[in-house]
Amino acid sequence: MTRSRPASGPAGLALRPAAAGCWSVTSSEQLCLACGLCCDGTLFDGVQLEPGDDVRRLKSLGLPVTLSRGRNPVGRFPQPCKALCADRTCRLYADRPRQCRIFECGVFKEMQAGRTDPAAALRQVKKARRLADRVRKLLLQLGDTDEQRALGERFFRMQCRMEEQPADPAALATFADLSLAVHRLKLLAHDKFYTRPPQPSAK
Ligand code: SF4
Ligand code: SF4
Repeated sequence: MTRSRPASGPAGLALRPAAAGCWSVTSSEQLCLACGLCCDGTLFDGVQLEPGDDVRRLKSLGLPVTLSRGRNPVGRFPQPCKALCADRTCRLYADRPRQCRIFECGVFKEMQAGRTDPAAALRQVKKARRLADRVRKLLLQLGDTDEQRALGERFFRMQCRMEEQPADPAALATFADLSLAVHRLKLLAHDKFYTRPPQPSAK
């Protein structure tokens, strides 16, 4: 799924967690720095550019932007994002494209609005990260080491492989576990993280 909904560029926030390994958060910015799921290929498989985004500059900054064919080509770059740093900050924060600027996931929004307290928001992020880690681990067990691709793409590819080639019972059991983990992650993502795009205002 390409990120094309309002949300915020999270991981790009200039703040850092209070201390490495410290999992308490007091602000939505710190929540993002504990998360990074909207940049690392867990929630989305790419980011679609919009009019006003400077494709040439983004390319020069190292984002592998490709353009669709057709009369009005649309730019896109894949996730996991090349600009995402190990500490979950965004290397291109000042230059990040519009989708990254405006995206705010549901957990972020709820916390910012005061409807979810920081500890509960952090629990949701940690739960999603645990599920994503489980998906990665199971993919690895099945021989997929391609960490440069989004989780959804990796799962789809594995599904195709399982359908095309006979697998031994152990691999089938692992694939069943993987399918369940992906299903749980998707449910959580739809329930807590994805947000609806804003409706165009009538003029
Ligand atoms: S998914 Fe939400 S909490 Fe996580 S980094 Fe993105 S905006 Fe922040
Ligand atoms: S440019 Fe990449 S790392 Fe930065 S906010 Fe956008 S998706 Fe995240």
